Amino acid sequence: MSTRIGFGWDSHAFKPGVPLRIGGLTLDHPEGLAGHSDGDVLLHAITDALLGAVAAGDIGSFFPPGDPRWKDADSAIFLNLALEELDHAGYSIVNVDTSLVLAAPKISPIAGEMRARVADLLNIPIDRVSIKAKTPEGLGLDHVAQCHAVVLLERAEKSNGLKSMSDVIESQRQLEDVVEDLLSSVHGVPKRRVAPAFDTDDIT
Ligand code: MG
Repeated sequence: MSTRIGFGWDSHAFKPGVPLRIGGLTLDHPEGLAGHSDGDVLLHAITDALLGAVAAGDIGSFFPPGDPRWKDADSAIFLNLALEELDHAGYSIVNVDTSLVLAAPKISPIAGEMRARVADLLNIPIDRVSIKAKTPEGLGLDHVAQCHAVVLLERAEKSNGLKSMSDVIESQRQLEDVVEDLLSSVHGVPKRRVAPAFDTDDIT
């Protein structure tokens, strides 16, 4: 199995008067996260982890902060682009693990809902998505939300219906065996004697 690993990190400062968006959800909190987009620190970290895993740059290289098209944009757009890059590179997600670091609000009461939302956005089962949260003890960063994310990818199943040559050869052998068995049972034709692949005497 061919695998890749990716890591992403992001931070946004809290700001009054904007909705708090984390993990694709709008959380009930007096402050949101400042950013050119919706400031979804968790989706940004996952997006960077996915792009990093296939060495496809980072979120800023695809979505420059100064571009007016991404003003207040839903960060699910960024995640979707990363998923397209994964698909293009021929990989799919094994699992995602994240750690949010923020003083408030408490994430644990809504972590299940957040996992379900992120799993939905990533199109993977919820048991492949982990969302943990810690408070920034000793960092003096109570006005900031940070997120770390790691992802594991595996080479995607062949989606175009083409089989590898070894699969084709194996299928052909199985088909020949079935035909031989049928001929043998119907017509009494003895089964083909399989010649040895090599002369054992020649092996030293
Ligand atoms: Mg960000």
